[in-house]
Amino acid sequence: MSLSDSSEAELYTGREILSVLGLRRGGVRLVSCPRCGRAGFDVHGFLAKNQDRLMRLSRDITVAVMGCVVNGPGEARNADIGITGAGGRVILFKRGEILKTLDEAEAEEAFWEELEKL
Ligand code: SF4
Repeated sequence: MSLSDSSEAELYTGREILSVLGLRRGGVRLVSCPRCGRAGFDVHGFLAKNQDRLMRLSRDITVAVMGCVVNGPGEARNADIGITGAGGRVILFKRGEILKTLDEAEAEEAFWEELEKL
């Protein structure tokens, strides 16, 4: 893999390719939004803070981090745990169910609390 980005980004991309091809099992599969004007939740800020911690987990889970209600609820519902922006709030999903609607400032702590219980 060679990207015009950090070594971590190259590793994460390589891992994702292997997972999609069925050549790698285990670890977190991350579904998240590209940069998008519709995002009401700071997906990229959240992942900048949390992606390394997520990628170190050996659990075989899918995590969705989504910006808005266009595709966010669908992706978050299909994940083991997901968060999505919804207006000025954030909705936390776990295995298909809505758990909580939160302020963005509360989202990170609630996300990790629920992920640890999976
Ligand atoms: S879910 Fe919303 S923020 Fe994410 S890519 Fe789609 S429209 Fe953009």
